[in-house]
Amino acid sequence: MTGGSGCFGVFVHKMRTPVSRWGSGEGMVKADLAVVGGTVVTGSHVTRADVLVREGRIAAVLAGGAETGADRIVDAGGLLVLPGMVDTHVHLMDPGPTEREDFPTGTAAAAARGVTTLVEHTHAHPVRNREELLDKVMYLRGRSNVSFGLAAHVWPDRIAAMEDAWRAGVTFFKVFTCTTHGVPGIEGDDLRQVFRLVSGFGGTCLVHAEDETRTADAERALRAAGRTDPGVITEWRSREAELEAVRAVTDLAVETGARLTIAHVSSPPVAEAIEAARRRGADVAAEACPQYLLLEEDGVVAHGALRKFTPPARNRSTEDADAMWRLLADGVLTHVATDHAPSTMAQKLAGDIWEAPFGLPGLDTTTRLLLDAAAVGRLSWSDLVRRYAEAPAKRYGLWPAKGRLGEGADADLVLVDPAAIVEIRDEDVISKAGWTPFAGRTTRGDVVRVFLGGQEIARGGMPRDERTGRFLPGPGLADPREVLA
Ligand SMILES: [Zn+2]
Repeated sequence: MTGGSGCFGVFVHKMRTPVSRWGSGEGMVKADLAVVGGTVVTGSHVTRADVLVREGRIAAVLAGGAETGADRIVDAGGLLVLPGMVDTHVHLMDPGPTEREDFPTGTAAAAARGVTTLVEHTHAHPVRNREELLDKVMYLRGRSNVSFGLAAHVWPDRIAAMEDAWRAGVTFFKVFTCTTHGVPGIEGDDLRQVFRLVSGFGGTCLVHAEDETRTADAERALRAAGRTDPGVITEWRSREAELEAVRAVTDLAVETGARLTIAHVSSPPVAEAIEAARRRGADVAAEACPQYLLLEEDGVVAHGALRKFTPPARNRSTEDADAMWRLLADGVLTHVATDHAPSTMAQKLAGDIWEAPFGLPGLDTTTRLLLDAAAVGRLSWSDLVRRYAEAPAKRYGLWPAKGRLGEGADADLVLVDPAAIVEIRDEDVISKAGWTPFAGRTTRGDVVRVFLGGQEIARGGMPRDERTGRFLPGPGLADPREVLA
């Protein structure tokens, strides 16, 4: 806060229509920041309104004119005002293989593009119990530009430690049905037991679903045939392997009542399997990532390891892409996440296709790609806010402080110029990856200013070199003093 005193508060005349109001007394809201003249976009409304911020939170959202007496006034004329995005599937490798990414670089990329909250987990340095969570929280102090939660990994011999980790504040548990990225897979009765436990203590799981037997058999056969061409990826990580695992997992969701999210849904048949389980009572969310909306299956043949991620891209035509965007707009795919899992180009291309690390960078590009989807009519502005802010915040217990532009929420605000035309370029990538599979695309709509708790953290695509982002404990936290002290 700069200058001013209490008497420089904002007087809200009764004739102005409050969209929402938080504060004492009829009609008067004091503010230390006012974002005025913009078009406020929430999951349900698009309204000309001013946003008043006090002590890091949204004090009021007021439709009407631009008069205000706040200490700081930001003119949002011609701009959209969105809540900060919430990306719940992010790998920042820190602590871990920080030659690929770290918290300062990854969260700087997030801040620049309006992602003000993320939930992180690193396969090479997993959190599997309370102590590992508290160690990581301690280590990450002062290393994040944005608010962050931390997920745990389900580990076969440490299932008993899960509830304790939940009570210590992990956001969710990551489960693999197949051994991938060095994380052991869990299937059958073991997976049933995990889901029963999670259901019992009210937790939630993010499930990477590919069938262990099918992927292992395919890998053996492809290697035995001497194959090292990039076409092995789609045969190894087949549609059948994904679909079979998703069916098994969602059957267990029906049986155990566990709240699950199927990570990175690749194609409409997977979404249909999830819908079928929902009709049988399963509480299963479905995650959409830009690579399954915009990249095509044969891209891996042309670009090799630079398109190696799993499950692989499945789209074969514009019609396939249109179907995926419709599933997202309709909410069958419940929310967007990047699955940001960067490697530099050199790291990607160091060995053959088998040795190359899986994964793509995503934090630098996801908001731009969604804004462009809104510009071309694949989503509405409100769809974007619902799918990349509201729904993930609600799913993982971060709501109502995060993902929401309304009274009492954290003042995490993203100002967007809807008319800006940008070319996505490798040289603008802030992530350590230093490249993006979306380079060369021209998109419409760009993030111009970003606020975290009322403080500006990025402007014109440039993040401020300040790491004020704090750890957000998950909803199972038993004793807030433990991690907040
Ligand atoms: Zn992932």
